[in-house]
Amino acid sequence: MTAPLPLRVLLAASEIYPLAKTGGLADATAGLATSLSALGVEAMMVMPAYQSALDQARDLIEVAVLPARAGAGPGRLLRGLMPDQNLVVYLVDQPELYKDGGGLYVHADGSDRANNPQRFTVLSHATCALALGQLGEAAVDVVHANDWHTGLVPLLLAQQRDATGPSTLFTVHNMAFQGLCPLALLPGLDIHAEGEHFQALEYFGQASFLKAGLVLSDWVTTVSPRYAQEICTPEFGFGLDGVIAARADRLSGILNGIDHSVWGPENNPWLAAPYSAEHLAGKAQCKAALQCELGLDLNPDAPLISFIGRLTWQKMADVLLQALPRLLEAEPDRQFALLGEGDRELELGFRALAGHFPGRLAIDIGYAEAKAHRLHGGSDILLHGSRFEPCGLTQMYAMTFGTIPVVRPVGGLADTVVDVSPETLGDDSANGFYFDEPSIEGMLGAIDRAISHYRQPMAWRKLQLAAMASDFSWRGPAQRYLSLYRHLQQGRSRT
Ligand code: ADP
Repeated sequence: MTAPLPLRVLLAASEIYPLAKTGGLADATAGLATSLSALGVEAMMVMPAYQSALDQARDLIEVAVLPARAGAGPGRLLRGLMPDQNLVVYLVDQPELYKDGGGLYVHADGSDRANNPQRFTVLSHATCALALGQLGEAAVDVVHANDWHTGLVPLLLAQQRDATGPSTLFTVHNMAFQGLCPLALLPGLDIHAEGEHFQALEYFGQASFLKAGLVLSDWVTTVSPRYAQEICTPEFGFGLDGVIAARADRLSGILNGIDHSVWGPENNPWLAAPYSAEHLAGKAQCKAALQCELGLDLNPDAPLISFIGRLTWQKMADVLLQALPRLLEAEPDRQFALLGEGDRELELGFRALAGHFPGRLAIDIGYAEAKAHRLHGGSDILLHGSRFEPCGLTQMYAMTFGTIPVVRPVGGLADTVVDVSPETLGDDSANGFYFDEPSIEGMLGAIDRAISHYRQPMAWRKLQLAAMASDFSWRGPAQRYLSLYRHLQQGRSRT
């Protein structure tokens, strides 16, 4: 048997963990690249040279000068290695665009950066040139673009590649973010689209970078199988359901994996004590340490619920804000810990609640990676109510820590969490709780169910064991991506 041909894959994303992260996209990009390289793929990544990326990447060298593009001056393409492994990462260094403080997509005051279309067009131009071998690095076989930030990559490659040029895969991590900008901006961004390329980009009189990626890539994936079906419907398609449905023959859902070596309780540097499914005692120590850290009453039996994530409409943070007083008033020992940032009004609302339940409510408005681990380790229940959820990593992280998720069965939440019912308890598959209605009553009802289960230690332990037995590793998903890359590559070499 002959060995399969080597495969060079370039993953392009606006954030990659640990160089820069606001959510699941960062974890997923790094996790997939790592697992692909374990499968023998020559996997590389490209992202903007934010200050945090420049600070953490190793052995950075300049490999090319990037020409002035999209209204920005000349920049540099840097090549380096990820902080903790020998995985190549390219950084598009354009100081005027990526190094002016604030968040990845927003200014320090939380407002959107008006030049986001320009920032990510520059990234897309550089990705395209890199992929085509125009920057002194060997050309790649597949470009795997992610979300609207790199949605122009399939367009640019469709315009520039020849018959042997790279295949394009476009993964949707969130349909809600579409990268809209006025069509009139395009010439200034060095984007010239006519005919079918213009139709792909145009969306109700504006340009949509997401739509360009969806229409012009060789294949589209979503980050869970359920989400691939959902986005073909008006409820979840954010106006692009027709566009997606038209690509149904080149659309598939591949569940994101998680990195069990980082997200788990056994060798976790951030936890007060290690534990495992066989030796759960350490979880009680983690809970006590967390209660101390957060100023919660030191009570091993109190049900401790946590929320970790963006404070946004998607995550039902608005409903949670209204539900929280009732949730805590229902029983005197209930405890709740929140870690998140997002919409300013919601942040203010949660801050205002903070002092009302001394010893029972801990509110942390901010972003803190290590604390997220401690919350997973020390909590009993994770609330992850979402109006829609492309994949959701947080519920998978929680389960590896034996923390039971309460979720709405949408997208990846439905693909990973199994609701408690007589049947699922009978076959030991139950590992969480569902609520259908995105309402206060729905949310509180599921929390009530979870807490009454929690008060039956034997039954709870069974749930924990089922949750901790789940294999959410990247092994299977990376293999599926690899098969897809090979399929796309064969498709192009035949044309
Ligand atoms: P999304 O990508 O929609 O934000 P996911 O559940 O897929 O949601 O991934 C969220 C990721 O971001 C997880 O790794 C979660 O732990 C992390 N995260 C979100 N908000 C915070 C925060 N305030 N502090 C620490 N980690 C956070």
